[in-house]
Amino acid sequence: MYIQIKKSDILLEDTRTMLVSKSRGAGTYQDTSRGKNRFERKKYSSVAKTVKQYNKIDMNRLWKEDILEVSIPVVGEHDSYTVSVKMEGVVKEIAANIKNNKNQLEYRTIVQAITKIFNSSNIYVKCTCKDYKYRFAHWNIVNNVSVDDSSNDPGPGRGIANPKDDKGRGCKHVLLVLANGDWLMKVASVINNYIHYAEEKLQKPFLKLIFPKLYGYPAEEMVEQDLIDTDDYLDSTEGLIDAINAYGKNRGKYKAGTNKNPVTGTGGKSIKTPNSDEEAKTDTKSTKDKSDEIEPNSDSKMSPEEEEV
Ligand SMILES: [Zn+2]
Repeated sequence: MYIQIKKSDILLEDTRTMLVSKSRGAGTYQDTSRGKNRFERKKYSSVAKTVKQYNKIDMNRLWKEDILEVSIPVVGEHDSYTVSVKMEGVVKEIAANIKNNKNQLEYRTIVQAITKIFNSSNIYVKCTCKDYKYRFAHWNIVNNVSVDDSSNDPGPGRGIANPKDDKGRGCKHVLLVLANGDWLMKVASVINNYIHYAEEKLQKPFLKLIFPKLYGYPAEEMVEQDLIDTDDYLDSTEGLIDAINAYGKNRGKYKAGTNKNPVTGTGGKSIKTPNSDEEAKTDTKSTKDKSDEIEPNSDSKMSPEEEEV
């Protein structure tokens, strides 16, 4: 017994800033000793800090549909959860940055693309915690700001925990991820590592699915290898992405010029290879400037407090 969502009802979408602002003044807790609402309480949780924790990215969706969906591990006040964030248009933005960068792919061209899309496009979220499940899962689907579609709508929830939809757009874990852009650098590393790995080891799908999207024209080898009509697949199982990130970590240690570009045949100097766990000091100002509130992680402040469900 819940509101059936018709396609015609799905009109609303929100940028990150709008999602955060709808949560900033919403839903006061009964016990406000650790923050009056989810927005304030988010500081007691922390977002995954290492590249290898970001190993659930469907590369087929990213490169074929230009949809980036990231699973972000978050350590909450008394358990661990996974926040998912979906955004569209990152690949197109990377391509635009490459064009403006003398046709060269660099780590920062990826960081800037993700940051721009995160700050300016519609963002879709969800979390695995109970607070999200009972108070936001339904309404975020209704408002078209959920990673899930209406087929996953659980209805307003047990006892209708949020009957007026006045508690904002997410649990404290979602709000933490939306307010803190540091994890974008890790995702950029995973994508960067994947591109380099694919270029060297998955040449056929690289030529077919990645190269043309990045540079705006097909690789010459595509014609030579008769790849135009083949339907290729980008393996993005967690195990492979783990291996690729480990590989990416070592890649920077190779001598410059030894990792030749198999497409252009030129020395790999055009592609910067930062250590995946210690990303180059890339310009993160654009994230911070536009952020409503960037808070440092504070995983030492966990408490046994009850989850507000
Ligand atoms: Zn949550």
